[in-house]
Amino acid sequence: MLASGVDIQASPTHNVGLFATRPIPAGTALWLPCTKCSRWSKEEVAALPEERFTALDTYGHLLADGSLLLPCLGAYLMNHSCEANVLDFGLDFGLAVRDIAPGEEVTCDYATFVEDAGWSMECNCRTGSCRGRVTTAQGTEEHLAGHWRGRIEAALPLVARVEQPLHDVLAELSVPYQRILRGGTVLAEVASGVSVCAPAFMTA
Ligand SMILES: [Zn+2]
Ligand SMILES: [Zn+2]
Repeated sequence: MLASGVDIQASPTHNVGLFATRPIPAGTALWLPCTKCSRWSKEEVAALPEERFTALDTYGHLLADGSLLLPCLGAYLMNHSCEANVLDFGLDFGLAVRDIAPGEEVTCDYATFVEDAGWSMECNCRTGSCRGRVTTAQGTEEHLAGHWRGRIEAALPLVARVEQPLHDVLAELSVPYQRILRGGTVLAEVASGVSVCAPAFMTA
């Protein structure tokens, strides 16, 4: 599910992308896997024709249990940037890790989807820290993972202070969000046992 304040527009680096339509403060949760997202079980994924799987894997996420999830309501159109302003690493929602101005593209880092083993793409994000080729294996490299954790932990204390357009759904479905509202600020504790790749509502 995608938060309000984010809309689909033409993108300079991709055909389309998601853009902020109003100021989005750091600490805002901008999307999460929800019960309305489309899902294919591990068995259904195995039975998909190659072309269909490739198309779904481009926009969807392979989850920890081998199933595939296609985020609903435009959330699947969030593009990658090597300087992403939204990170989910360990969380089961995408968190704005810095303030995002109206008109700015909202981006995440596809290397955080570490369950999607072997996935890669040529990157065209044009940022100063572009890694050229983006692979999900990069998400297990400590220098990158440590950088993401630092950025997320800096934003965690802001979560309870900013307006959360997805509050009702997060409060119902997201264990990390519930832990943050109870004062959790250490990512390893907040995210223990769940992630975008293993959402709590699917295992509950
Ligand atoms: Zn959804
Ligand atoms: Zn890049």
